Amino acid sequence: MLTDIKSMNLAEISAYLTDNGFEKFRAKQVLSWIKQDAASFDEMTNLPAKLRDFLKENAYLAKAQIVRVQRSKIDATEKFLFELSDGEFVEGVLMRYHHGLSVCISTQVGCKMGCTFCATGKSGFSRSLTASEMIAQIRSAELHAGERISNVVLMGMGEPFDNYDNVIRFLRLVSSEDSLHIGMRHITISTCGIVPRMRDFADLELQCGLSVSLHAPDDRSRSRTMPINRRYPISQVIEACQYYIKKTNRRITFEYALISGENDSDDHAHRLAALLTGMLCHVNLIPVNNVTGAGYQKSTLKRQNAFVNILSAAGINATVRRTLGSDIDASCGQLKRNFMKGDV
Ligand code: SAH
Ligand code: SF4
Repeated sequence: MLTDIKSMNLAEISAYLTDNGFEKFRAKQVLSWIKQDAASFDEMTNLPAKLRDFLKENAYLAKAQIVRVQRSKIDATEKFLFELSDGEFVEGVLMRYHHGLSVCISTQVGCKMGCTFCATGKSGFSRSLTASEMIAQIRSAELHAGERISNVVLMGMGEPFDNYDNVIRFLRLVSSEDSLHIGMRHITISTCGIVPRMRDFADLELQCGLSVSLHAPDDRSRSRTMPINRRYPISQVIEACQYYIKKTNRRITFEYALISGENDSDDHAHRLAALLTGMLCHVNLIPVNNVTGAGYQKSTLKRQNAFVNILSAAGINATVRRTLGSDIDASCGQLKRNFMKGDV
């Protein structure tokens, strides 16, 4: 198997090169070429031919090449189709905010979790992404925009905690000087609630943000839309959240897609308030985005307001999230992996 050199930090590249009989100082040169977006080892002209040949034979330079861009006419949000080194595709989204550019990247080609409201969940699963492929999505978006990306959210295709080791490697690398140097405080991970990994993540005490996709206040309704709830019920998810808050002293964001007639009654709001009372958290209400075949409708404006008001009255911090890129299917849950080469 070829070595994924772009998932390595400087110390690891050094070890890799010295283990294979090359000088340690070459690692800095290799890393510098990676930072300059070299697409092949042949471009690394200050390396001796012997080292270049060795790398060509034993390593590869991961990529996430933009092969299609769709731009929203409503808010200038852009959706990218990235092609990975092995010909798989993932999607990502570039959002423009007053405070700068934010990119939403994918962590897997598809997703195994099967949430009923999510296009990714409906499109099956192929494989997990490497750290280098997550970084490459950010870098490709940055080069496309011609401007530095300041915030990253792991809310594209895939479940980050179903690809835990690569995601943690990504976080450590992308926030370091060996890579894009995007501070952990500017990165947010979203999970559907893989409880053991949430606890592992809390133990790392990283300064990165955590969002938890809740979408229902009780096991009966949550299991209906999120199969993962049958494995890790709400009580365990909430305990893991409390543990995370205790460990990191950081606020958690709960994502809650408002689906008409499914999870948006007054009763659901009261139960959600009871569940979250006293927790250091924020509730992000997202009128459910349209997904072909899901058969769900957004809650009416009246229901959205009633829902927020009940939460607010109970002292829970809640807002309805503005949807970006709705005309190009770039909103939460609308990214999918069903691409054929011919579609591009
Ligand atoms: N797998 C992770 C992260 C990717 S999904 C997770 O589930 O958290 C990013 C967010 O979009 C999650 O909060 C997810 O629940 C939400 N989402 C999925 N489908 C949606 C839809 N149709 N409308 C609104 N939000 C949706
Ligand atoms: Fe996977 Fe998240 Fe979609 Fe659920 S909502 S299917 S966990 S990407």
